Formats: sequence, structure tokens, C-alpha cells
Amino acid sequence: MSRKESHDPELVDQLAYHYKEILRLLGEDPEREGLVKTPVRAAKAMLDATAGYRMDPAATASQAIFEHAGSRMIIVKDIEFYSLCEHHILPFFGRVSIGYIPRDKMIGLSKLARVVDNFARRLQVQERLTAQVCELLGKTLPNDGIIVACTAEHLCMKMRGVEKQDSATTTLDYSGRFDEPALREEFLRLCHL
Ligand SMILES: [Zn+2]
Repeated sequence: MSRKESHDPELVDQLAYHYKEILRLLGEDPEREGLVKTPVRAAKAMLDATAGYRMDPAATASQAIFEHAGSRMIIVKDIEFYSLCEHHILPFFGRVSIGYIPRDKMIGLSKLARVVDNFARRLQVQERLTAQVCELLGKTLPNDGIIVACTAEHLCMKMRGVEKQDSATTTLDYSGRFDEPALREEFLRLCHL
């Protein structure tokens, strides 16, 4: 999942300049030994964490769609992701489980994980991440229903004491036959949600 992209040196320089200013504004000395390389490292880390802006999830998904004769629910559980909340630019992270009812086609499992990664590596909110994965798969993969469940912990809530330390947030989106409560319940049960 952690495919490293090569970074535009000019962009790294500009971001590093601003990170250095942020360190100064925080009362730090950006020239002290431990911090000298921090602005450049922070710039590269931020570019990695937001690499999804430079990825095309529709292209990712359509790379691996195969013939499939079955019509039973297919589930991929516990796809790990890391994202940044757009309100505080602090990490939220967790797992996404995806279910779908195939219509003559199926999608490569690793591509599902890549689609999640493409959307996660942006400034996000959990609800939108969940909805975007559901919508994109609904459009690119021939199907009779898509369901996406996302469970995550938000550092912006934990670090600021807004949330109990062990709590997590779950979001759900679905389309097609997952309108049927029984099918949703089957998915949630199989995912242990
Ligand atoms: Zn936040």
C-alpha cells in the first residue's frame, strides 16, 4: 500500500519553507540539530499522506475487472487505511470492509485496497471517504449492490480528549440490493461489525 511516489523537488522546497516558518511560530529553533532536516521530512511525509490527489481511483479500479459467473455477495474485510482529517490535519485511521453483489464481473482484491488508499490519502472526513469508495465502485464495477463500512479512530478527537480513548467511529454507505435490511445485516455479521 505504501507505494512511494517521487516528489517534485520544487514542491518539497516550498512546503519545507512553510514548515520551517511554522516551527518558528511555535517557538522552536528550526536551526537546532534535531530540527534541521525536519521541514523537508515533514514536506515529504505530507506529500505521501496526500498522494491520493495525484491518483485516479476510477483508473485504478478499472485495471482489474474480470469475468465472473457467480451472483453471491463477495466481501473483502479489514482493508487498513490511513487518512488525515480535513478539519485539523491530524490522522484518522482504521479499516474498511467492502461487500458487493457481482453482475457478471468481479474486481481484483488488491485493487479494492488501492481504491481505498487513493481516497484515504487526501484531506478527508470519514463519511465522505466511505461514500466515495461506495460511489466509485458503484460506477466502475458492474454490480447489483455495493456496501462499504468504515471504522476509524480519530487523533483529533483522542489527542484533544474529545473522545474516550478506546472508542471508534463507524460509517456505512450502500447502494442497490443492500437497500434490503437482511442483506445489510448479513454483511455486517460476516464482517463482525
Ligand atoms: Zn478532526
